[in-house]
Amino acid sequence: MKNQIHELKKYYCEELAKINSLDGLKELNDSLLWKKWKLNDILKGLKDLNESDRKDIGMLANELKDFIKWENEKKEAEIEKLDFIKIENEEKIDVTLAFPNENKGHLHPISLTSKILEDIFISLWFKVEDWPQIETEEFNFDKLNIPDNHPARDVWDTFWISDEINADKKVWERYLLRTHTSPVQIRTLLKWDLPIKIIVPGRVFRYEQEDARHTSNFYQLEWLVVGKWVTFGDLKWTLDTVMKKLLWENTKLRFRPSIFPFTEPSAEIDVSCQLCNGRGCKMCSGTGWVELLGAGMVHPKVLEACNVDPEVYSGFAFWMWIDRIAAQRYWVSSSRMFYQNKLKLNEQF
Ligand SMILES: [Zn+2]
Repeated sequence: MKNQIHELKKYYCEELAKINSLDGLKELNDSLLWKKWKLNDILKGLKDLNESDRKDIGMLANELKDFIKWENEKKEAEIEKLDFIKIENEEKIDVTLAFPNENKGHLHPISLTSKILEDIFISLWFKVEDWPQIETEEFNFDKLNIPDNHPARDVWDTFWISDEINADKKVWERYLLRTHTSPVQIRTLLKWDLPIKIIVPGRVFRYEQEDARHTSNFYQLEWLVVGKWVTFGDLKWTLDTVMKKLLWENTKLRFRPSIFPFTEPSAEIDVSCQLCNGRGCKMCSGTGWVELLGAGMVHPKVLEACNVDPEVYSGFAFWMWIDRIAAQRYWVSSSRMFYQNKLKLNEQF
């Protein structure tokens, strides 16, 4: 039995020297060692020996077991080190080499348009506000004079946050993806002292049928001015100034009376379509006009909801579609194309 143990050790050492991979080491331990020489069987057979032999052979067998364990670990570390050196040699990275791809990427046309708009408004002393895209029902609808039974809630089919999260919320506290940037009007009026002049560029979500002008997620820019003696004349002057800076000299504007719950009086404002120069195309649905803005004087009920006295203060608000402005600026026939990640389109900007 002693010979068996010695031979086993010799065989193991010879085979180990030939091995240069972890797989090979595993194979030696699994298939050859245990099956051919059955070290475990030797250990099991100890019980049939007399006491002094059992002690001697048991000690030898255990020594061999520890030896194999120790040698295995040494070999493993050796193989790993060699592998690492191999990888290091093969995959050298020279950080001083020139980057092979010159195409560094750039801002998306919607971000570009948003930046241009922000610059225009900052030059007119507006402050830029940014708020989360998840809102409560109260700020998205209730405080904007859109009560539960108001038909406007039907117009804007809403993406609600899952029932599990909303389950223990009161009706007005339920979470949704904001359908417009107008909740920021409320949050700002509640937070800041008057007068205020803010813009809110941001992403909004509506459950809409997609076409050339409609997508289920898009970008709006909200403007709000509230102070003493703010009139509809101020609204028109601001719009005129911004549009002259934003679009071209020949751009025509068209005011149409409209109804919005949070403004009174209200107007929808169209610009003459830059893509077809007013002749009619897919973008303008053949009318020659593109609806770019909604606007109006802030409704007294909205001011009251924010603890502002409508007898003393007044204001105006605008909200515009950044995607549609980008489409007009860059002559893109459908604002939906901005969300399709097509390099052919994005590389042009
Ligand atoms: Zn057109």
